[in-house]
Amino acid sequence: MSYFRVNENCNGCLACVENCPASALCFEDTEEKRTLRHNMTLCARCGQCWRICPQKAIEFQHLLSGKWDDVVTMDIVRCKICDDILYTVNFGKTLNSRLPEAEENLCSKHRRSHCAGLWLSFAAGGKQYPKRKNQ
Ligand code: SF4
Ligand code: SF4
Repeated sequence: MSYFRVNENCNGCLACVENCPASALCFEDTEEKRTLRHNMTLCARCGQCWRICPQKAIEFQHLLSGKWDDVVTMDIVRCKICDDILYTVNFGKTLNSRLPEAEENLCSKHRRSHCAGLWLSFAAGGKQYPKRKNQ
């Protein structure tokens, strides 16, 4: 998808090409056609072409209005007790690949009560704390 669009109001006057400070616009004339070209890599997003176009033909609103684009969407993991959002499934995978055992899906509040329960169990001589991989 190109952010830069020229609509049907364009009459090919080339004011935009002549006034682009970044040489991001050019044109090519053949026997019967004039083609206007835009290079997004060179474009400085300065909006000069948009301001100067006498035909209001440049549609740059997508950049100038500061609209947000979705670039990636992924599943989330929630606290298994209160349903608060914790992190993404992919982040959970990264986390678990670096921890000695899989993380419980718990928010900080419920993790504290979970840890307190573990500690009480440990203090009572029950469950042992898991050792880290490098211990
Ligand atoms: S300044 Fe506007 S009307 Fe002129 S060539 Fe550029 S886009 Fe088309
Ligand atoms: S926004 Fe600026 S740099 Fe980009 S094409 Fe228009 S005048 Fe050139």
